[in-house]
Amino acid sequence: MTAQPATQVVTVEAGAITPGAAAIARAAQTLAAGGLAAFPTETVYGLGGDATNGAAVARLYAAKERPSFNPLIAHVADSAAALALARFDPAAERLAAAFWPGPLTLVLPKRADCPVAELATAGLDTIAVRVPSHPIARAILMAFGRPVVAPSANRSGHVSPTTAQHVLCDLRGRIELIVDGGPTPMGLESTIVACLDRPVLLRPGALARAEIERLVPLTQAPHAAAPPAHADEPPIAPGGLASHYAPRARLRLNARRVEAGEALLAFGPAPAAGAERAAAMLNLSPRGDLIEAAANLFSHLRALDAAGAATIAVMPVPRAGLGEAINDRLERAAAPRS
Ligand code: AMP
Ligand code: MG
Repeated sequence: MTAQPATQVVTVEAGAITPGAAAIARAAQTLAAGGLAAFPTETVYGLGGDATNGAAVARLYAAKERPSFNPLIAHVADSAAALALARFDPAAERLAAAFWPGPLTLVLPKRADCPVAELATAGLDTIAVRVPSHPIARAILMAFGRPVVAPSANRSGHVSPTTAQHVLCDLRGRIELIVDGGPTPMGLESTIVACLDRPVLLRPGALARAEIERLVPLTQAPHAAAPPAHADEPPIAPGGLASHYAPRARLRLNARRVEAGEALLAFGPAPAAGAERAAAMLNLSPRGDLIEAAANLFSHLRALDAAGAATIAVMPVPRAGLGEAINDRLERAAAPRS
């Protein structure tokens, strides 16, 4: 994929929504090639990328200009596909049976063999999963056959798009394809419920709380009312639930040399002084590419953490482009923990 794709708009006529329809096939091909394709869901237009392809997920964050890596929702065609990603407790099973397909996102324990890229879940052991009901979204997910991350198809800080024209205004020249299926029916984001211990409402949304409470009792997330950092982001609730990936090892940032016993998380072609004595070493991007670095961030941190060093020295990463989000996550991971 080129750095500056020409954005094509393809229209799906009402009544022509079949997995064989040209626009649906184009979207599936775009996703398979690591490209970005916006499409309508019943909530808002989503910016779709292959959830199993870390580089595609990194490009998606870059296209949206997100200053930090929020975990993304994995969209799948049906409950069977969701079962391959996450573990469902009885409450989650009941909610999925009642409200999927539809505007309900479930945050669940991630299966060990879950194929979704670490960057998409921001390194967490949980995953947010949804089966959308919009016929175009469903047809694309069926044709593609793998999970798709699809945050709202707008630049960070802008309002969520409910028409293809909104998407074009924000993302022209940044994504390969927009599937125009007319205005989205709901215009409000999905409701998010975590089923990790007992069901917790993480974000109110298009599915009313009362509907859910008819089936399972809901606990309000401890900090659900915290204001979002950016206008287009939901209130990040979850005291401890959406909390950040925290390595066991201490992180030493902006390291220009490696001390004895440290592991090294490198960036760029020039190794840090003393790299040869690092207990373990991985490079986020030997060619200094920030999109590649983002795709590798959480998986490399995990791998170095597993190698057992008490400290991971992290070379400086420039703050341009995705570097802002990379540094944000590194700083959070390095912060002292109680
Ligand atoms: P959206 O912007 O509509 O795609 O929603 C994404 C939101 O889902 C994120 O901002 C998080 O608040 C939430 N989310 C995704 N994955 C998780 C997770 N593993 N744990 C908690 N919340 C999550
Ligand atoms: Mg959004």
